Amino acid sequence: MTNEKKTLPLLALRDVVLFPGTITPIFIGRKKSLKSFLASKKTGDGQHILITAQKQQEIEVPKPKDLHNIGVLAKVIQTVKLPNDNAKILVEAVNRVKLSNIHDREIFTSDYVLMPDEEITDLEILNNALSTVIENFREYAKSSKRINLEILDILNAQNNPSYITNVISAHLTCKLEDKQNLLEETNLKKRAEILTKIIATENSHLDAEQSVQQRVKKQIEKTQRDFYLNEQIKALQKELDGGNEKSDFFDLEKKIKKLKLSKEAKEKAEGELKKLKIMNPMSSESSVIRNYLDTLLEMPWGKLTKANVDINKTEEILGRDHYGLEKIKERIVEYLSVLKRSKKIKGPILCLIGPPGVGKTSLVKSIAEAMDRKYVKFALGGVRDESEIRGHRKTYLGSMPGKIINLIKKSKVDNPVMLLDEIDKMNADFRGDPASALLEVLDPEQNTHFVDHYLEVEYNLSDIVFIATANSYNLPRALIDRMEIINIAGYIEEEKIQIAKNHLVPKQLKLHRVTPEELKITDDTILELIRYYTKESGVRSLEREIGAIARKVLTKILKDKKKKSFTIKPKDLEELLGIKKYRFGLAETEHQIGSTTGLAYTEAGGDLLSIEAASFHGKGAIKSTGKLGDVMKESVEAAYSCFLVRAKSLGVKEKDYKEYDIHLHVPEGATPKDGPSAGIAIYTTLVSLMTKSPVDRNVAMTGEITLRGKVLPIGGLKEKLLAASRGGIKKVLIPEDNVKDLKEVPDNVKDTLKIIPVGTIEQVLNEALVK
Ligand code: ADP
Repeated sequence: MTNEKKTLPLLALRDVVLFPGTITPIFIGRKKSLKSFLASKKTGDGQHILITAQKQQEIEVPKPKDLHNIGVLAKVIQTVKLPNDNAKILVEAVNRVKLSNIHDREIFTSDYVLMPDEEITDLEILNNALSTVIENFREYAKSSKRINLEILDILNAQNNPSYITNVISAHLTCKLEDKQNLLEETNLKKRAEILTKIIATENSHLDAEQSVQQRVKKQIEKTQRDFYLNEQIKALQKELDGGNEKSDFFDLEKKIKKLKLSKEAKEKAEGELKKLKIMNPMSSESSVIRNYLDTLLEMPWGKLTKANVDINKTEEILGRDHYGLEKIKERIVEYLSVLKRSKKIKGPILCLIGPPGVGKTSLVKSIAEAMDRKYVKFALGGVRDESEIRGHRKTYLGSMPGKIINLIKKSKVDNPVMLLDEIDKMNADFRGDPASALLEVLDPEQNTHFVDHYLEVEYNLSDIVFIATANSYNLPRALIDRMEIINIAGYIEEEKIQIAKNHLVPKQLKLHRVTPEELKITDDTILELIRYYTKESGVRSLEREIGAIARKVLTKILKDKKKKSFTIKPKDLEELLGIKKYRFGLAETEHQIGSTTGLAYTEAGGDLLSIEAASFHGKGAIKSTGKLGDVMKESVEAAYSCFLVRAKSLGVKEKDYKEYDIHLHVPEGATPKDGPSAGIAIYTTLVSLMTKSPVDRNVAMTGEITLRGKVLPIGGLKEKLLAASRGGIKKVLIPEDNVKDLKEVPDNVKDTLKIIPVGTIEQVLNEALVK
């Protein structure tokens, strides 16, 4: 090949530098390049073309100045036409050439001269340099994994230094700039040095890349491992949940769609579900959210029982389940009538107040039945913490909604009858006042958007029928204002007998699966039970004793197969229930000096109160015992002062009280004794003691005393009269100002008693002392 100047079409390549002695496939995409290639076929032998690299890859339409002026002369070995006028050619770079006079017309053409390597001066040095290059390249080829290792064999078999350096140069993945430098270097030794440098840098790059890759690989392995474990956990969980194939999330989504959630609740549910989906299912947060969603979605959200108040049916049900209580039933029916008309409960809430066992709870149950509604009970006794009503924030582990929300969830409807039991037994403490939370629940203005701390979204409580019960009037003022109070005082003996016969005995027989043929209890036995085994305003203990009898009899029947039926008579009771628990009626069989029967009013109803006094030598002092409250102790002092003022007119000599001490005692420490209503009874006791006049044993009395001798009104008249009637008292003295309350007292009670209103303590003595 001579070194004369020739001209050929020129192909500009963007990203490849060709080296003499190597065969390379080239993709021709640019129009101008294609034209150059086609022109080359018509120029010279039609097989050769000039090829050079662009100085900058990104130039789409290069000018001559953008091209390196050292390139190669290449021979086209193969041509493959591709669609869209593209072509792929296989070329063998034959010689390095120096380009000049590059013409830029339709195609590039250029003059060129061949540019061979310099003469080798010191072959040994070059060979040493080359063996280092080959050694380094071997290492590079092995770790780069991008190079066909056969190339190493080819290199080993070669001893042409030009060829070796060119092949290695062509296989490196270094920068184009470096490659161009390699091409342009005609000194072989210098080329070997450049190669050593480049390969060393490439090797260090590879090392770095490898360590990064290793890290990435480890990371991927860990993520994959975690994913795999999580999947396993999920699969196990599913297995534990009974192999439920359907996704839980899917179920939750379906529920959210199906339920008539409020807009706020829906957004909340969707948000929480989104969070849940990306959480580890075994984490505690995920179970907190899971529980929350379950609670939120188990709420009825507007579901109601078709409540229908039929007034006739209501009367029937109340009558069927409860004996007596006529006035109370009437009030309840009226209340329900109003409800039926107004649909919504905007008025006050019913509150049944009375001693235990008078049927408050069972009345509420009957009301629910009459209204065709579900019944739920919220026992408020001992509730001190606001959160029991309003719930705990769900951020606490194990937090729960409040009782109100829980009960609605349990009832599965938004309009149950909710019994607020023992509303007077709630207490406020440092954790917040439950009464104020309850007020919010009961207030029709606020309860349409009640917010439980746990649920966090508003819930409508306005369809609930709240009915409260209490043993006393000891309620927060604000609560009383929201209530319509119905008082149930208690029962007299006859009523209890009827209740026992018609309700309690059948109920207990059924409960114990004993038939009426197997167990009969005579009326006088029931009376005996009432008198000697119970002491109460209601019938709770009575029911319990009847239950005890049923159990004993059932055991007897099962033990001794011969006897199939039992009729219980009064004399059998000691054997079944043990000795009598209480005394009945008058303690005294004769009129006594210094002993009076008072009447007490406690949460358990009315009770007889025996007050007695004794005197002995002393200094005119008075002491009282029997666990009396402060107010009652003051009554003792007031009564004593009244007596001292009147001692002369009563015919008591000064020395009879100045030289004597008086001890006043109220036995039965278990009955709480406080309040002013024993005033006249204490006075009567003192006068009887000092004047030695006996008190009529058939008389009981109640009334507060003033220093001027007036009798002031008292509370709980109905309960007290019931207690008097139960206790077999014949005559009761009551304050004049309480006469108006007598209309509340059932006629059958009034029939058994002689009720005498008194205004002064003189009248009291007149009625009480036996002349
Ligand atoms: P409270 O709620 O007032 O403490 P309960 O409603 O629990 O009382 O009543 C105790 C028991 O006495 C129940 O079995 C109840 O049915 C019964 N009972 C109470 N009063 C009557 C009544 N007037 N007629 C029929 N059963 C009654």
